[in-house]
Amino acid sequence: MTPVAAEAGSIDAHAHALPPADAPLEKVALETYVALAKPSLIGLSRSEIADELGRIGVAAAQRKMRSQQLWHWMYVRGAREFSEMSSISKDMRSELEKHFTVARPEVVAEQISNDGTRKWLLRLPSGTAGEKAHEVECVYIPETDRGTLCVSSQVGCTLTCSFCHTGTQRLVRNLTPGEIVGQIMVARDRLNDWADRETPNGNRLVTNVVMMGMGEPLYNFDAVRDALLIVSDNEGIGISRRRITLSTSGVVPNIKRTGDEIGVMLAISLHAVRDELRNELVPINKKYPLAELLQACRDYPGASNARRITFEYVMLRGVNDSLEDAKLLVKMLKGIHAKINLIPFNPWPGTRYECSDWDQIEKFSEYVFNAGYSSPVRTPRGRDILAACGQLKSETEKLSARERQALRAMAMTD
Ligand code: SAH
Ligand code: SF4
Repeated sequence: MTPVAAEAGSIDAHAHALPPADAPLEKVALETYVALAKPSLIGLSRSEIADELGRIGVAAAQRKMRSQQLWHWMYVRGAREFSEMSSISKDMRSELEKHFTVARPEVVAEQISNDGTRKWLLRLPSGTAGEKAHEVECVYIPETDRGTLCVSSQVGCTLTCSFCHTGTQRLVRNLTPGEIVGQIMVARDRLNDWADRETPNGNRLVTNVVMMGMGEPLYNFDAVRDALLIVSDNEGIGISRRRITLSTSGVVPNIKRTGDEIGVMLAISLHAVRDELRNELVPINKKYPLAELLQACRDYPGASNARRITFEYVMLRGVNDSLEDAKLLVKMLKGIHAKINLIPFNPWPGTRYECSDWDQIEKFSEYVFNAGYSSPVRTPRGRDILAACGQLKSETEKLSARERQALRAMAMTD
């Protein structure tokens, strides 16, 4: 197994000033991704596709038009083979076939809940030959007025939030833009949710995307940005930026860049209103404490009454769920275009936390609501498929990690 190049960016105990706006993005080194011999065009920008076409000898004058055609077939029609792309000449199709694919991540398992929630286990190539394949989960949650897909940005996570099971997983690697876009492609494939000739503009099932699966999206900024720009491109998948939410534990230097370069809705994993407690629950707080995080939220490009920032708050019994906490929360969010999402804690084996009592969650929620914030409590979805997974859970620790991740993802999505 390839050793992990560097562990979770070591978090120093002292807060420091914000770097200048042109400072390089904060990143952590992970295992490398080894490109496939025959690469998939999924996840490349239009100009990258044109460059690839140039590499296989397509004349410069044709590249733009060809990449537009490919874009349409891949992202509007969901073509899985070049042979389906009937507006492209046969010769060109077979040339493309020789060098590229339009492959998405391989689906190794699918589970469908009674409430319509679906969960896919996806297999991704590992860093080196012989190494076990990497896996991530992707969850689809249908509701009456929308269908939300919960997407992962990394295999595992380098951060170690004490209530999160992903945080206990061994770090593996960043996903590529193709693997992030690929999760949406897989969902549309499996749900039969591509535009066809009969319903070119028909209602789609996947209407919203939340970057709330495995991993810290702002520690894989470039890939997440490139992927979300493809997902929101209105000549392709066409999910508007207002329907895409990126959740971060608080990688402050990359928050402004998220607004400037991606322009999606922002969610903050707040979970505590005092630095002392947040240092324990969300240790990145030691590096970027509450005052800096909240300032970044005040400054978030594009935030407004109509485009509020979501503050996620997991309800942990006797830890962060007192009325004092609720009061401080309301005080702290003053002046920020905010909404609050209270999440019942999903316990996992070996955790030291418990979910708050229901009446405490209600009291907390009522206080926040009376202070003028909408404060929905998220109800877990897809419980029945989780019950089924619970049987697998005892077999391997790895599976149990994934099941926990899915449970969390389902509870998280609104
Ligand atoms: N890494 C990013 C995005 C993925 S986590 C982040 O932390 O924001 C999505 C949300 O699930 C986060 O708010 C996270 O704090 C929350 N979460 C993690 N473990 C949980 C658990 N066991 N129960 C409930 N919510 C949890
Ligand atoms: Fe990573 Fe988010 Fe879990 Fe924290 S809550 S360990 S940042 S996935």
